[in-house]
Amino acid sequence: MYEIIQSAKKRLCKRLLILGHHYQREEVLVHADLIGDSFQLSKMAAERSVYSDGVNDSVAECEIIIFCGVHFMAETADILANSPSNLAKRGGRRVNVILPDLVAGCSMADMASYESVSDCWEQLSNVIDINELIPITYVNSSAELKAFCGERGGIACTSGNAEAVLKWAFSKGQRILFFPDQHLGRNTAIKMGIPTSDILVWRRGEPELGGNSLETICNSRILLWDGFCCVHQRFLPEHIDEIRNAIPNVRVIVHPECKQEVVMKADEAGSTAYILKRITESPDGSSWAVGTEGRFVERIAKQNPNKIVVNLAFQPSYCSTMGLVTLQNLAEMFQHIENGNPINIIKVNENIANNALIALQKMLANS
Ligand code: SF4
Repeated sequence: MYEIIQSAKKRLCKRLLILGHHYQREEVLVHADLIGDSFQLSKMAAERSVYSDGVNDSVAECEIIIFCGVHFMAETADILANSPSNLAKRGGRRVNVILPDLVAGCSMADMASYESVSDCWEQLSNVIDINELIPITYVNSSAELKAFCGERGGIACTSGNAEAVLKWAFSKGQRILFFPDQHLGRNTAIKMGIPTSDILVWRRGEPELGGNSLETICNSRILLWDGFCCVHQRFLPEHIDEIRNAIPNVRVIVHPECKQEVVMKADEAGSTAYILKRITESPDGSSWAVGTEGRFVERIAKQNPNKIVVNLAFQPSYCSTMGLVTLQNLAEMFQHIENGNPINIIKVNENIANNALIALQKMLANS
């Protein structure tokens, strides 16, 4: 498999770009041209599909992006790489974005459907001034929900720029509807000093107002969708107590998709890119317990042999859908590309893509 992929990469050369998310399997990531979190990879997809020298635009040779990640990431890459301005620079030529396994989704993204968020919006529009409500979608969501935000004066965010995005939203309106991850929304709001009494959870399945009273909704500043990441949900405050007992002077760093009580107890919290930077730049001999996806933690540990880097929980927490991309299906993608019939192309509907682009461009501008 390794040989098939490497020789095909050489033949395709600059026509192909492989993007790999930090949570991917090691044997897949060795083939990636660029590795990053969803935010970094989105930016790379946008930038590397069109090269600009700052004076005269010159068209990149990239024709295909293989996105080793999950579905919403490939959608975002398609929207950014094939934005109207990028298409114009390439004379209308599209860059095909391929997801090696179409089943690779995100359970958190699936917790907020377009229909359920639209229903929430409609219910709220009956009880509050909807013009004062700013929708924010975490980038871990479908293109339809990004379009929903783009159409309604809203914005997308990542775990790396959630605070800047919330500040932007409060400059535009009184109140925020944040989906799908309640924990990123809550942790960011608390970090900004917003009292917990101003933060509500909209519970799917409740017959009216997400299980809230009209009065609490009117007094709230942030309404959080009740979604979560099952990978980060597994970390508990007890794990922090246990690791502090086991490793003296350990520094606990967690992802803001973890629960509030875990983030509050940790020494620091930040995006995947932040965690990587902090540990990489820390002095030799330092000790870290990391509350995020297991494959990523194991890779940081390998890259930092002179430091102690361990999973926060005794049992590592792996993202099963990220793990669906394998050497076999990566090699299969190459065979289809070289035979002239690429498969698993992710192409977002044009109208949805245009509206989603509005929310994504604001997100990039607030990074
Ligand atoms: S780690 Fe969580 S948020 Fe990220 S892709 Fe997996 S399920 Fe989704």
